[in-house]
Amino acid sequence: MNPPVPSRLGLTAPVGGHARIPKSATPRVPPNLTDYDAACRDFSWAGARALLDGLPDGRGLNIAHEAVDRHAAGPRADRAALRWIGRAGERAFTWRELHDETSRVANALQGLGLGPGARVFVLAGRIPELYLAVLGALKARCVVCPLFSAFGPEPIAMRLEIGEADALVTTEALYRRKVEALRPRLPRLRHVVLVGEAGAATAVRDTLDWQRLMQDASTEFVIPRTEPEDMALLHFTSGTTGRPKGAVHVHEAVVMHNVTGCYALDFHPDDVFWCTADPGWVTGTSYGIIAPFTNGVTNLVVEAEFDAQGWYDILERERVSVWYTAPTAIRMMMKLGSAALAGRDLSALRFMASVGEPLNPEAVLWGVEAFGMPFHDNWWQTETGGIMIANYAAMDVKPGSMGRPLPGISATILRRDETGGVREVSGPMQEGELALKAGWPSMMRGYLKEEVRYAKCFVGEWYLTGDLAMRDEDGYFWFVGRADDVIKSSGHLIGPFEVESALMEHPAVAEAGVIGKPDPMAGEIVKAFVALKPGFEAGETIRRELLGHARKRLGAAVAPKEIDFRANLPKTRSGKIMRRLLKARELGLPEGDISTLESDER
Ligand code: ATP
Ligand code: MG
Repeated sequence: MNPPVPSRLGLTAPVGGHARIPKSATPRVPPNLTDYDAACRDFSWAGARALLDGLPDGRGLNIAHEAVDRHAAGPRADRAALRWIGRAGERAFTWRELHDETSRVANALQGLGLGPGARVFVLAGRIPELYLAVLGALKARCVVCPLFSAFGPEPIAMRLEIGEADALVTTEALYRRKVEALRPRLPRLRHVVLVGEAGAATAVRDTLDWQRLMQDASTEFVIPRTEPEDMALLHFTSGTTGRPKGAVHVHEAVVMHNVTGCYALDFHPDDVFWCTADPGWVTGTSYGIIAPFTNGVTNLVVEAEFDAQGWYDILERERVSVWYTAPTAIRMMMKLGSAALAGRDLSALRFMASVGEPLNPEAVLWGVEAFGMPFHDNWWQTETGGIMIANYAAMDVKPGSMGRPLPGISATILRRDETGGVREVSGPMQEGELALKAGWPSMMRGYLKEEVRYAKCFVGEWYLTGDLAMRDEDGYFWFVGRADDVIKSSGHLIGPFEVESALMEHPAVAEAGVIGKPDPMAGEIVKAFVALKPGFEAGETIRRELLGHARKRLGAAVAPKEIDFRANLPKTRSGKIMRRLLKARELGLPEGDISTLESDER
């Protein structure tokens, strides 16, 4: 389990069996969470709720009020709230402007008869109208579901059907390419609002024009009473392990979005924050829209897709101070090496975080080498609505660990027994299922139309996450693998993450995905699929070298027995390696739901 400790990075000697990157002794700004234990001790949900305003006159709690209206009415009104870098232009909105534009949206939706509970889907690339539509719909108390714009027609129609969409806000181009032909299948879909190319007007049959609606709508909108338990957001999971589930979230989730922005992402009033996730995935909504706005920081939105040099340009030019990204992107940057960063002025950058997949220790260390600071891994799910376990600015980082639970969050490691009950493991570094004590504000309130699947997530007071993990003697959590992906080989339980991380340490390896392949003797053997970095050629020599490296690093029982090379590994569109697909293909089994599959190179 111990990651290697390259001395050049100034790591402290392993303490309690794990290397540590010490917290900064001279932070540029004092972190919001300075003393983890004290913060946990003193934490209360009432206190977290008190960081928000609530709707005036005790009318309840509404995400959009906390994100927009309260800042528009306060000292931050004329500061930059949203800074948009488009492919062919830029736009910026102050909180006052965001208030006016989102009020227009709310009025327009209300004018269409879309009131409380109406389901408004948004299908668009990262354009300003997406952000206005989401926040405006929340003001009107509609339920919002942002969809990833690169989905094909079928996954889009399926989600609109399951989610019982009443309205869809999309672009003219996406509508023509992906929705128009399937519209007859969607009788419930009453309104389609189209944003024209570069915001221009549109005139497509059976649709409404965004620009016209906005022009005619007032910039004043009083958010009606909103109960904290009113449904606010619908988010589909990534579909990594099977058919995507629609997780239901309520307005009260904003308490979690806000406090995690403060503690886990360490937002400060002058920050420029960049979350690289698309709002079609929960990270892109909770942290690409809500948390930065509620915390009053400038939210940078970049329309273009990943490109390492382009991203470095943005970090430098926009003086990004807090950056939230994902392991896949980090691994792609690592592929190019830190030389690509030479000569750049990234002096504004002070905190980097990652989510979505296990972050290999090698990637955390590369952060130090390339940016002078580690990536702070954090863990959460669509179902949890907000960050649950994190590495904090004022805490030593143990590369390879997801960190410690947020104040207010109680996490543990459980094992199921034969009677269907669960018990907590005793002692450190014991594998089991990661579980969270139910009841935090952004916990999903259900899987849409899947009550049985939802009920199965809970045993007593615990929500079971479906991920296997361990907790060390200091309370840091270590990801082992998804319960579905864990390999049972000759009596050993092997987490794919450990094997993948060991392979990643080899200079030739860009990415690795590990599965269990059925074997008559061992039950399963460990098989790895590897994508090589540029300049390395797949073949027997490198295969033997990697097998040897893994055996030395992991021991013969855990090291892969077979390694195959792939140009790319199959991933979800949110960048997660689909091990179930590697396995299905290896075994010639049906591929299952692949609606979220992105790269498809075998
Ligand atoms: P599905 O539930 O449809 O199979 P999914 O679980 O990938 O898809 P998400 O909710 O987007 O959908 O992802 C949450 C999962 O991502 C977690 O349960 C975990 O397996 C993985 N994950 C997220 N962050 C981390 C992390 N920091 N380390 C390890 N795994 C992570
Ligand atoms: Mg999941």
